[in-house]
Amino acid sequence: MLQNNVNDKIDILGLNMEKMKEVFSIVGLKKFNASQVFDWLHNKLIFDFDKFTNISKNDRETLKKKFHLPILEYRAHQISEDGDTEKFLFELKDRKLIESVLISHKNRHTLCVSSQIGCLLGCDFCATATMKYERNLDTSEILLQFYYVQNYLSERGEKLGNVVFMGMGEPFLNYDNVIEAINILNSEKGQNFSKRNFTISTSGIIPGIKKFTEEERQINLAISLHSVKDSVRNEIMPINKKWNIKSLKEALLEYQKKTGNRITFEYILIEDLNCETKDAFELIAFLKNFSCLVNLIPYNPVIGKPYKTPSKRRQREFYDLLKDKNVNVTLRETKGQDIAAACGQLKVKKEMNSLNEK
Ligand code: SAH
Ligand code: SF4
Repeated sequence: MLQNNVNDKIDILGLNMEKMKEVFSIVGLKKFNASQVFDWLHNKLIFDFDKFTNISKNDRETLKKKFHLPILEYRAHQISEDGDTEKFLFELKDRKLIESVLISHKNRHTLCVSSQIGCLLGCDFCATATMKYERNLDTSEILLQFYYVQNYLSERGEKLGNVVFMGMGEPFLNYDNVIEAINILNSEKGQNFSKRNFTISTSGIIPGIKKFTEEERQINLAISLHSVKDSVRNEIMPINKKWNIKSLKEALLEYQKKTGNRITFEYILIEDLNCETKDAFELIAFLKNFSCLVNLIPYNPVIGKPYKTPSKRRQREFYDLLKDKNVNVTLRETKGQDIAAACGQLKVKKEMNSLNEK
């Protein structure tokens, strides 16, 4: 149940209120102490036991003896030329690196968080896939990405509006920690951040989609589709060999039936692969029974990969074909390309630099 224990100390940040109360009663603290500590950590975002001024010195000593506060060491920050995309590189307790991306549109801020260090799924177009998979992130490590950036924004009187699990990793392969982090962020005594403002993006992990269908009604679901043909998906997304388009479609129709939620489909446009006219018509046919939004994303080039971004004209033509058939569709501007803001690329660059330095 308790993760991330260091020298037998419990990671206090990853505990929801109920668990905190339970553990506090075991270590000799009062249940109301849990409300106070939860407020310092998840509402005030203060991560120093000595600053918990409404807790007696004795109890603070118990906290220090029994619990530890995980940290996220900020390592690098890059801002795109237009200033709308900012990338944060963080170091974890085991010195592994993860990243979060802040995308701003006027005063609306969306944070793209990581759920794992690396990813096991090996999509051929994705920078994260070229890194070594290390492990799932703990609940607290997911929370800290949010808290760090929330603190950063609060210095200029602003705050986060949305959170998307579209950074490094496959969130449905770290289901429990992702959902627990969302629940803690959602709790009234914490950030009170609406579940409707979260989106989980999956490459198509069917058991995860099924569990999510049963358990979660408010969090948004996005699917990395990229093609509706098994032959193409098999080539670029190995996960399709395990769960193909047919099983994905069945699971999503069930999700839609049970939740009534609109699904977002992410579709990367890759030249000569998935954005010809016939691909648009096949996509339209696939979408027929869905209430959805299609998010077209021009491919963000990854060093060493053969894929190309289609011309602006081709992107627009593909968009128009969908639009003409009344598909709810957006064409994303390629944002933050100058800082390589696609999935995983800051970390790759950093590792390459450090290799070069040696
Ligand atoms: N593993 C999850 C979430 C993280 S990836 C998933 O695959 O859905 C988040 C999104 O970034 C996915 O839609 C993914 O396909 C997309 N992506 C990955 N590499 C990209 C690239 N080079 N250019 C554009 N989008 C990319
Ligand atoms: Fe993993 Fe998503 Fe990248 Fe595929 S696109 S390798 S699932 S992070």
